[in-house]
This record gives sequence, structure tokens and C-alpha cells, in this order.
Amino acid sequence: MTDQRDQHWMRYALQLAQRAWQAGEVPVGAVLIHDNNIIGEGWNRPIGEHDPTAHAEIMALRQGGKARQNYRLLNATLYVTLEPCTMCAGAMVHSRIGRLVYGASDQKTGAAGSLLDVLRHPGMNHQVEISSGILGMECAALLSDFFRMRRDQKKTGRSPSF
Ligand SMILES: [Zn+2]
Repeated sequence: MTDQRDQHWMRYALQLAQRAWQAGEVPVGAVLIHDNNIIGEGWNRPIGEHDPTAHAEIMALRQGGKARQNYRLLNATLYVTLEPCTMCAGAMVHSRIGRLVYGASDQKTGAAGSLLDVLRHPGMNHQVEISSGILGMECAALLSDFFRMRRDQKKTGRSPSF
């Protein structure tokens, strides 16, 4: 049951990631769920927003805070297609979400176990439950397709603005 629900919301996050792709951004999507309702959603857009903090997770958490009129997002679950970076993992601790579900692991910058484990650091005052690898293949394929497309564009000289 939980698995089905997790896959459902991860599919939704994958759709949000597509919106990042369409804008020429690295395709990562995130959706924040509370009581089985969407309270926030976001996709990666640091280039378009000229904002190094405009990661999918930050956008979803900001929206969630506004929706609940509270900077604490207790018992919320954040679904994200890619393992969060240190900044986003830190924001999750500040927001006090209950659970993180992510798709693909990120060996280079992942802060939920790959490079670092910010969320389960024993000294952390708030612990976030983590589930990983939900639709992991699809999430990873979306990213590798994107980077392959970008490499091909560079080779053929059809590189747009980035
Ligand atoms: Zn991030």
C-alpha cells in the first residue's frame, strides 16, 4: 500500500521534473504531501530564476510553508526524483518533515547517504525517515537522457543558452 502510494507521488514528481527539462534546467522534480494532499511542488530552476537555491525541494518546501501557514512541516513527506544535496537536506531538517522519499541516488552531491548523510547524522536534533530507490530507474534515466541530449547538442553546435 505504502509502495503504491510512494510510486504514485514519485510519478507526479517525475512530471514536475519534465517541466525543468522543458526550461533547459537539470530535470529534478519534488512534491510535498501531507495527509495524502499536495501542499507544495517544485522543479529545478536555478538558471531561469538566477537563484542558486532554486532547487525543486526548496521550491516545494517554501510552497508547503505558505500553504500550512507554518514554517514547521511536521508529518509531511517530500518526494524528490534525485537524492537531495546538502542545502536541501539542511532545509528538510529545518522544516521538520517526517519523511523523505527519493528516486535516483547522486554519488557526487547526495546528502542522504551517498556523499554525506546529513539527515541521519547522529548529532542531528531532528531525524528524517528515508526511503530510496522508488522508481529509481526512471528517475536516473531521465537525468542521463538529459545530459546525453546536452552533449549531443554541444557536438552538433546546436547549443542554446546554457
Ligand atoms: Zn538541492
